[in-house]
Amino acid sequence: MAVSPKPLRKAALHGSAATPRRARRMSAAQAEAFLRALAAANPTPKTELAFSDPYTLLVAVALSAQATDVSVNRATVGLFAAAPDPAAMVALGEEGVAAHIRTIGLWRTKAKNVVALSAQLLERHAGQVPNDRAALEALPGVGRKTANVVLSVAFGEAAMAVDTHIFRLGNRTGLAPGKTVRAVEDLLMARCPPELIGPAHHWLILHGRYVCKARAPECWRCVAMAFCNYTDKVLAPLSPPGATREAAAGGQ
Ligand code: SF4
Repeated sequence: MAVSPKPLRKAALHGSAATPRRARRMSAAQAEAFLRALAAANPTPKTELAFSDPYTLLVAVALSAQATDVSVNRATVGLFAAAPDPAAMVALGEEGVAAHIRTIGLWRTKAKNVVALSAQLLERHAGQVPNDRAALEALPGVGRKTANVVLSVAFGEAAMAVDTHIFRLGNRTGLAPGKTVRAVEDLLMARCPPELIGPAHHWLILHGRYVCKARAPECWRCVAMAFCNYTDKVLAPLSPPGATREAAAGGQ
């Protein structure tokens, strides 16, 4: 009887964003040490989205759902040149916005939302981005994560936006384990020293994006490894597929 191959284990991916592997929760002192290690390596972290004011930040973050910052920045160069404020965005209209953002995911819905949120800013907030969570979350296409980024980056408020990287990292390392995005956010807010809450959002996103990656964390070059509770640390670079066979055959 033929034997079916075993399905690939999810664990081989070191925990996807949807099902991150969870580590023992860090102590409060350990969590602070973990964050301070990231801080020492990057004292002035910044978002990688291009923006010039709260309005362009809001639009850029709204466009960034399920899209890379690089792809959003490519699209917003032309978009913000054509429509740098809410009135110009409404005048540009859905078709005009769509023409600039077709290269990013969900562009139809995003074009509709960007025009609608701009109209609402004009109608209810004199064309200004409100420094208020409820008002931000009432804007079309703006959820808690986008509101948190705007509150933190544009207004310096204590807010922690949890994206896919931070959710995975919080669970994988034991920094802030939680089954939901909100649980991870609440625990991070409780554990971060107040002065670190703003930059911690950037440190964690950048760390998750470039070092503590979804498929295989690059622990061998992680500045916070001494404080991390992840049990399957990757302590050397993984060989690219085929490298071992080529080496054995004397390949270059
Ligand atoms: S040691 Fe590895 S798993 Fe832990 S934070 Fe660093 S990269 Fe991530």
